[in-house]
Parts: sequence; C-alpha cells; structure tokens
Amino acid sequence: MDTAVLSRRKLLGRSLAGTALSAMAALGIDLRPAQARAWSLRIAEAKQYPSVCPYCAVGCDTMVYAQDGVILDIEGDPNSPINQGTLCPKGAAIYQLHVNPNRLTQVLHRAPGAASWEVIGLEEAMDMVAERVKATRDETFQETYEATNADGEPVERIQMATTEIFSLGGATMDNEWNHVHQKLMRGLGIVPIENQARI
Ligand code: SF4
Repeated sequence: MDTAVLSRRKLLGRSLAGTALSAMAALGIDLRPAQARAWSLRIAEAKQYPSVCPYCAVGCDTMVYAQDGVILDIEGDPNSPINQGTLCPKGAAIYQLHVNPNRLTQVLHRAPGAASWEVIGLEEAMDMVAERVKATRDETFQETYEATNADGEPVERIQMATTEIFSLGGATMDNEWNHVHQKLMRGLGIVPIENQARI
C-alpha cells in the first residue's frame, strides 16, 4: 500500500470524523460517500432558510438548515450568482457564530482598574454607554472647526461635529442595523464612521 496515500487518508479521516473513521480510512475504505450520506440524512428533515454571510462586503449567500428551532448546518447557497455555493474559510465557520458554547449571552463589564469581568444587565449597560456618549459629546461638540495649512490657507472645515467619538461597526451588523446606526452616529455629529466588514 502506498504509504503517502495511507498517510493522507489518515489525516483526512482524523480531521473529518475522528479516530474511528481514521482507522477505517487507514484500511483503504473511502468514507466520503458515507459521510456525505450521513450529512444529507442529518439535514433531510430540516427547513432551509436563505441568508447572507455577515463577515464581509462580498455578501456570499448561505443556506441555513434548521429543525425545531435548532440550526443544524449552514452552507454556501449553490443558487447564488455571487458565490455559487462556495464560502471562504471565514464564511464556512459561521455555524459556530450561533452554535458555540463559548458564545457570550450576557453583558460583561470590567470596571476601570478591575482585574475581572462582572455580569451586568443589558439596560444598565445601555445606560452606561448613553451617559458616556452624552458626556463626551457635551464636552467636545464643535459647531465650527477650521484647519489651515502652513500658509494659513483654510484646508478643512467641519461644522457641528462631535470630534472625540469614533464609530467602528462589526461584520455581524446587518444592513438594517447599519442604516439605523449610521443615522444615529450622523445625528450625534460623529464624523469618523467605519466598519470592520470593509474589504
Ligand atoms: S467572509 Fe468569505 S464567505 Fe463571508 S461574505 Fe466574505 S468572502 Fe463570502
């Protein structure tokens, strides 16, 4: 038996399904059809929900498979003209965004100087954010701001700006959220608004 093939099969088997499957692969048994069948059986009764990968501005289409309110799998949508069923490594991992024992489901706060995090209520956290935004805006709001170059010529003019707050959005914010968020930031006079999802 070709040792290079054996070793590749071993590696494939271990990465796909663990030690038991690896042992079968080492015997030269091709498990891929069985794995594909097991996967298709797993989602056979699932409902399909078309969605979009939230990680970047390419906007690859996904198909979410769920049963009884539980997500079973998320794959690239083969009918998508954008990604034609494919997902990059980041997009291929979006299943764990929702189904993940490490996912935070409570607000954590670490007070200035504290060494540990404590759980606080969402309302309390929102109030803390609002108080800090208002205080910073009240202290730094500028109705007119002019900058000049070395020759004293005006090179920049911003009116009514909150200059000390920067907004950085995350990739998991959807279009609707971003639309409202943008309105709020602009309404507060915040000029630097950026998002991690930018390519
Ligand atoms: S992160 Fe990857 S899968 Fe997701 S939209 Fe961007 S390119 Fe597509």
